[in-house]
Amino acid sequence: MTVSQLAKSIAESPTLKLNEEARLLREKGEAVIHLGAGEPKNRAPIAAILSSAAKLNTGDVKYTPADGTPSLKKAIIKYTEENYDKIVAPENIIVSAGAKQSVYNILYSILNPQDEVIILAPYWVSYPEMVRMVYGVPVIVKPEDGGFYPRMEDILKVVSSYTKAIIINSPNNPSGVVYSEEFIAQIIEYCEKKGIFIIMDDIYHKLIFDGKKWPACYRFTKKDLESSHIIVVNGVSKLYGMTGFRVGWAIAPRELITIMTNVQGQITTTVSVLLQAAAEGALTGLQSHIEMLRMTLENNRDVMMQELNSFSGVKITKPNGTYYCLPDFRAYSDDSVKLSQLLLKKALVVTVPGKEFGMEGHLRLSYAGSVKDVTEGVERIKWALDPNSPNEIYIGDRKIVRDWK
Ligand code: PMP
Repeated sequence: MTVSQLAKSIAESPTLKLNEEARLLREKGEAVIHLGAGEPKNRAPIAAILSSAAKLNTGDVKYTPADGTPSLKKAIIKYTEENYDKIVAPENIIVSAGAKQSVYNILYSILNPQDEVIILAPYWVSYPEMVRMVYGVPVIVKPEDGGFYPRMEDILKVVSSYTKAIIINSPNNPSGVVYSEEFIAQIIEYCEKKGIFIIMDDIYHKLIFDGKKWPACYRFTKKDLESSHIIVVNGVSKLYGMTGFRVGWAIAPRELITIMTNVQGQITTTVSVLLQAAAEGALTGLQSHIEMLRMTLENNRDVMMQELNSFSGVKITKPNGTYYCLPDFRAYSDDSVKLSQLLLKKALVVTVPGKEFGMEGHLRLSYAGSVKDVTEGVERIKWALDPNSPNEIYIGDRKIVRDWK
């Protein structure tokens, strides 16, 4: 079969693949611990469910404007005012099927073939693939000091006449680090001067620990929204536990939103009106779920750190947000894919190889599950990798002896 070379070269989403592998193992009755999860366990807020159900009950389930329903946009305007201290117009907003589609739509709408997009490692797995899908060139920047905090000096080295955009994701998936205010200020000032788009993927923006503050981007530019190069991406997936609802949005100058709306109008039109109603319910309903989720995650993060700190050989940068951390397992293996496979096979623990995020030798571990998942998961990893740990363990009701080195 002859198909598109480009499409054929696009990698399967490793996180979705792992979810599926874990599901199949669980279906077989295996005691799998999923430390790969990119979603919280909590149910969708009741306000989201009621709002969607009310819309469904009317039976009036039709197309909506391609850029989203006016009432969801109103909720997004309020959200933006409260969280970003910025007044935006309905014409500055487009609603999409998740932040994922928002990012793709932005890249499709701003890039010409061969244009470059700077992506900071460690990065969310989908960014480089999406850039390639629209014939752009992902330019990966890895801090020379091997850390997770991007440095302007490393970025400046790769800027070229083809640089069209940079993607900033803080709090960061997969490292959990929150970039400094100074860095955000510097990168925005630099890009605004150069006419480079700054795509701010803020999907985890309220999941921050240790009293740290998340710097909302607009205060670092003197430009008004219409002349600014800042594009904000956000959505309901991560803060509201609504990953399956598939609602995200982008905020940008009107000119760009019009182009993105034309593009989306030819593809998906928009998100189902039922799901837009759910997102509206989430944004306008009680917000206390978010703080509860944040506190649970902070506690889980502490447990994860405690467990990992007692693991000789593993180096860890403490995450200040998200659901994730990205420990360095190079003391055990340089090949994170093999390591992740070994942990799944022997210890029935799902992890995501750091290679997928541009950080070989690391594993992304999620603490979005229960405390029990975190403690037992790390204990199993320790048992599988650390020859100094006891060589017997119970996995489910089976006692297993480590017989490998
Ligand atoms: N950006 C980042 C950094 C993410 O981690 C994810 C989800 N894993 C998304 C965007 C996509 O979110 P959504 O479910 O809204 O498409």
